[in-house]
Amino acid sequence: MSTIAENLRDIQGRIAAACAQAGRNPEEVRLLPVSKTHGVDKILEAHAAGMTLFGENRVQEAADKARHLADTDIRWALIGHLQTNKARDVVTFASEFHALDSLKIAVELDKRLQAAGRGLDVFVQVNSSDEPQKFGIPVDEVPDFCSRLGAYASLRVRGLMTLAVFSDDRHEVGACFERMQQLQERLRHDDRAVGTYDELSMGMSGDFELAIGYGATTVRVGQAIFGARLDPNAYWS
Ligand SMILES: *Cc1c(COP(=O)(O)O)cnc(C)c1O
Repeated sequence: MSTIAENLRDIQGRIAAACAQAGRNPEEVRLLPVSKTHGVDKILEAHAAGMTLFGENRVQEAADKARHLADTDIRWALIGHLQTNKARDVVTFASEFHALDSLKIAVELDKRLQAAGRGLDVFVQVNSSDEPQKFGIPVDEVPDFCSRLGAYASLRVRGLMTLAVFSDDRHEVGACFERMQQLQERLRHDDRAVGTYDELSMGMSGDFELAIGYGATTVRVGQAIFGARLDPNAYWS
């Protein structure tokens, strides 16, 4: 079985190769290891191999891990849908939030952040596959949504995030990423859009190389680094 350090080296190599093929500088692409469901022992293994930012999709699990690892330099990106009643907890541990999908969440987060005297890097989640069961702002509504974010001064809007359609068809998956790239370009030239839009958080274990071809700047990789996920309750119960 390969170790986490070996997996990380392998993924970094694949990122570099995908960048070379796309004519991009590998320094433009950040690897965000997704440690959800895995224990702190594995996170520390990845940390020893040089990783300092980790992605988690559940607030409670992430907050618990952050508490366990408070004496390290590890930082946390919350990458999953957030309920308004959990906004308070996010402010205690997260340095990035990749799943902003409603103004209600923006209001709650901003209120808590202002009270704590801090800011937060956020990504607007886009439903790039137009699947009804998916979280995220519909593609057509993103420019309007992004024009309304100026009211929340503690949110630093860095860019967009998506989960592509779950499919074996590379054309369908690529079409999602292409929509994101076009949207990013549009927002960069839209004076009403609040934020920098220098970031595109997209691509996971199965599709990160494809995402890099469409301009991904953060790839969120879980299984290819940490192996198959354990039962989500196995570690923290
Ligand atoms: C779990 C998760 C990932 C990583 O998925 P893998 O297939 O394990 O690489 C990426 N993004 C989000 C939002 C996730 O929840």
